[in-house]
Amino acid sequence: MTLVRVAPTQEPQVDLSRTYDAVIVGSGAAGGMAAHVLTSQGMQVLMLEAGKKIDINQELRSMEWPYDHPRRGDMPPGSHAIRHNEYTIRQPPYAKKTAFKHVYSYVGGWGGSDYVKNILVDEKDHPYTGTKYAWVRARLLGGKTNIWGRLALRLSDYDFKAKTHDGYGEDWPISYADIAPYYDKVDLYLGISGYKENLPHLPDSLFQRHNKLTASEVMLRKSLKQMGRTLTPYRAGVTTDGVKNKYRSKCFGRGACGRRPGGCDIHAAFDSPTGLIYPAMDTGNLTLRTNSIAHQVLVDANTGKARGVSFVDSQNHRTYEAKAKVVILAASTLESARLLLLSQPRQHPNGIGNSSGHVGHNFCEHVMGPGATGLVKELVGRAPTLDDGRPGGFYVPRFRNLQDKQPGFIRGYGFEGGGGFSIFPDGAWDAPGFGGQFKKTVREHAGAFISMGGFGEVLARYENYMDIDPTEKDRWGIPVLRFHYQFSDNEKKMCEDMATTAREMFEQAGVEVIGVDKDILTEGWSIHELGTARMGTDPKTSVLNQFQQSHDVRNLFVVDGSSHVSASCQNPTWTIMALAWRSCEHLADEFKRGNL
Ligand SMILES: Cc1cc2nc3c(=O)[nH]c(=O)nc-3n(C[C@H](O)[C@H](O)[C@H](O)COP(=O)(O)OP(=O)(O)OC[C@H]3O[C@@H](n4cnc5c(N)ncnc54)[C@H](O)[C@@H]3O)c2cc1C
Ligand code: SF4
Repeated sequence: MTLVRVAPTQEPQVDLSRTYDAVIVGSGAAGGMAAHVLTSQGMQVLMLEAGKKIDINQELRSMEWPYDHPRRGDMPPGSHAIRHNEYTIRQPPYAKKTAFKHVYSYVGGWGGSDYVKNILVDEKDHPYTGTKYAWVRARLLGGKTNIWGRLALRLSDYDFKAKTHDGYGEDWPISYADIAPYYDKVDLYLGISGYKENLPHLPDSLFQRHNKLTASEVMLRKSLKQMGRTLTPYRAGVTTDGVKNKYRSKCFGRGACGRRPGGCDIHAAFDSPTGLIYPAMDTGNLTLRTNSIAHQVLVDANTGKARGVSFVDSQNHRTYEAKAKVVILAASTLESARLLLLSQPRQHPNGIGNSSGHVGHNFCEHVMGPGATGLVKELVGRAPTLDDGRPGGFYVPRFRNLQDKQPGFIRGYGFEGGGGFSIFPDGAWDAPGFGGQFKKTVREHAGAFISMGGFGEVLARYENYMDIDPTEKDRWGIPVLRFHYQFSDNEKKMCEDMATTAREMFEQAGVEVIGVDKDILTEGWSIHELGTARMGTDPKTSVLNQFQQSHDVRNLFVVDGSSHVSASCQNPTWTIMALAWRSCEHLADEFKRGNL
């Protein structure tokens, strides 16, 4: 079979003398979706992306074997990925005063760091300050979608109406019925693989062919069923049956997914450039300017409306202005908050759109760390099978605080996991023995391991916030974010429960538990940052309305995860895109009516 790779259409020339219908800041999941929806409605759009456009296929080299790489995939000497203990014993900025030439977030420490050295930001250029935080950023066309893990989940009314359910925080200004049609659109346009389970707290998508569970996963699924819990094949933002998109291929189950920090060079896994941006360019309505770091939303002194964006060219360090009738921020949760706070025209002395004082606040994400590893004795010695030729293992949806009420914590958590053979045999580091006997032990046990780790909801709290550091600046002289954020007792109690239930589920299934992690990973580890410009009906306690439109400035929209009211425990990207689709459809309608 031949894989066809199609080059994107020739980009229209950027014309900064012109006033575009809309300017979008950022080209990840949120920015890409905004571009898709607005250009398909005929709007003339300029997209500003801070990072470079790189040859991503060449960068990912998804099918390269470790022995084909001079350092088995590792970065050259002089580069360093921050380790877990560095995050906890030191204060940010973590790269300051280190002897290393380049410093990357912890994701650079996963196997195959050389493949992400041009994708992850160099922490030396991008400092931040304040409380400890493991911030993972990808500055390039497509942002973090180039390497995301692809677990694509929906939220339910247990999430959208969480306050109604347990009394804490705020309800979202929308319910599942409002967003369900847009989840459907995202599913159909981008493709998602999974298996229908009919769970009220984890609504099904319009799934394409699901990935097969391995023998140990099937065993665990059966056992969990008896406990009233579910183990379902990984719901992946990957097209397994194909979609109508000349830039993407369907998944061939080549196994590359599990081998390095993400990335799919045939784009079966969704990424924003091939899934959204190149097709948007084909409409002729999208102009892209990369290497363009937005640092201020510009405001018309007479009308108080946004009139465009000021940006620095990352290569020549000069400042330019992009003019537009509508401004859409999609720079990711923390960067969009930074931009709002940095934009301080006369009318908005605390930051644009911040009359409520909530910009940067109510930050939430997922807490990680606890989980378990086990050995399925019946599988020891079985002949090898191709188990990692798939985009993911399994997901165990939330089962806490649905009908029940747990002592000690509210909300819930889910588990991501996997079992079976992988390119590097599980358990090899810990296997006893030496020489031939050691190799035999490793081979015999390689497919018998199973493990899972939890992702729990971090409660949105006003006290958890980010502001602008008064002195520290990035390489381009733009003031950086300062974190004021830590986990609360709710997260700590939830994590204790995660470790207990992980053990309990393995034991119940007859899996020999060989390790239980109880430690909580550093704040930020989930890479699911949310909530810094939340939606709401009350302009005094929220930043955006239900269409992610600023309460204060009606032609300003923020369409990324910053708008989320609570984190739920489900991974956020599919929701980010469904919301952005809904908001941008509304935006285009309002634009046509002359209301913006
Ligand atoms: C290793 C990894 C695994 C993940 N796994 C999952 C998963 O399994 N499931 C899931 O749901 N999510 C996962 N995520 C998270 C997912 O990638 C994000 O939720 C998603 O990419 C968010 O989209 P976004 O558009 O808000 O931000 P991004 O994708 O980060 O895009 C933002 C873009 O804005 C640009 N930008 C930033 N500041 C500026 C500026 N000032 N001016 C111009 N441009 C700017 C950036 O360069 C970037 O390109 C994972 C992420 C990583 C890194
Ligand atoms: S397993 Fe599928 S989604 Fe993953 S890298 Fe291979 S083709 Fe892409």
